[in-house]
Amino acid sequence: MKSSAPQQNRLKVRLTPAAERAVRGGHPWVFADRIRELSRTGNAGDLAVVYDRHDRFLAIGLYDPESPIALRILHAGKPVQLDQEWWRKHLDIPLRLRTSLFDDATTGYRCVNGESDGWPGLVLDRYASCAVLKIYTAAWLPHLERVVELIEENLHPTTIVLRLSRNIQTAAANNGLSDGQVLRGAPVDGPVVFRENGKVFEADVIRGQKTGFFLDQRENRKLVGEMSVGRDVLNVFSHAGGFSVYAAAGGATSTTDLDISGHALAAAKRNFELNRADDLAQKCRHETVQADAFDWLEKNSRPTYDMVIIDPPSLAKRESEKPGALAAYERLATAGANLLRADGVLVAASCSAHVKADEFFQAVRMAARRSRHSFVELRTTRHAPDHPARIPEAEYLKCIYLQAVAKR
Ligand code: SAH
Repeated sequence: MKSSAPQQNRLKVRLTPAAERAVRGGHPWVFADRIRELSRTGNAGDLAVVYDRHDRFLAIGLYDPESPIALRILHAGKPVQLDQEWWRKHLDIPLRLRTSLFDDATTGYRCVNGESDGWPGLVLDRYASCAVLKIYTAAWLPHLERVVELIEENLHPTTIVLRLSRNIQTAAANNGLSDGQVLRGAPVDGPVVFRENGKVFEADVIRGQKTGFFLDQRENRKLVGEMSVGRDVLNVFSHAGGFSVYAAAGGATSTTDLDISGHALAAAKRNFELNRADDLAQKCRHETVQADAFDWLEKNSRPTYDMVIIDPPSLAKRESEKPGALAAYERLATAGANLLRADGVLVAASCSAHVKADEFFQAVRMAARRSRHSFVELRTTRHAPDHPARIPEAEYLKCIYLQAVAKR
């Protein structure tokens, strides 16, 4: 691992007027085509000082020549030295925001949520005593040593695991780093077990999606648990059965996890085992179905469930895929609604950032109207408090709850 970028590496940068305004207003991203002047050729991770058109300090950030987002702002406003004290405070802010959110019943949560917490392109999750650091830009690679020290100082984890977004794996390999590498502490053999609202789950921190678990859905899982008494629950795109474990512990009669991945369903079975001590969860029947959700929903339409949860992966990775994604959300919602018995609840979530919350909610409402039931809307939800979205680009998660009522 290389040490932090030395001072003399600093780039001087000037931006277009519009970009200057955006940065002054607190936006953390500067796209490559908004950079007007660069004092020299920059390398990934160089600290870049932004000067305004009057040659005054405007901001400082991390430069990445390979990314369309060439500059990620760390600080805007008065001139500062990014010394040890500054970095300490910078990590302390997001960590303090979490101190009153969780007690011992929840040991898995997000400590730092990228741009929305002042750490653009970097995520830090905690799973019990294991810290998982995920980076999305090569600009963090030269600063890893410092970041790891700060994590040790603050969280005292037994292990720190590094996760890398796919686009930076080659750059990381050139720095001797790989996805899933243990940066500090004991090797990780097998899944890491943690608690969430008193339920027990495993996280595959080395190879799993995101950092090993879909921590972002905690609040929705809790709501599902609270409305599950006596219900037969279908959990479509279940992954490791998170929603089902909550439903079971909340008194569901049965839960069915449906996912295309056998690996995810095996984890779902283990997560049920981990919650055996819970009386209600133990009484709940748990089934798994390995299938393509779209195919399965086309073939099965009898109203046999009292709750259907639909939480697909991102269906629009880019703007051009948005119309197709909306159509798919509608198809899923109509099919899910048709599987409900009277009084059944449809829970539909979307994690596609390109599909805005209102568009998604509207699509699901329309789709539900085309089903065999009429619906009342129970609620909509957005981001969990440990996953703040403080810029529009960071908003991706939304979920709507509808309950079937007698058709009018
Ligand atoms: N609801 C989960 C997270 C879902 S992630 C939770 O709360 O943890 C999306 C899941 O959809 C993944 O497990 C993936 O394997 C699954 N998936 C992707 N495409 C699928 C398809 N066509 N049919 C069924 N499952 C699919």
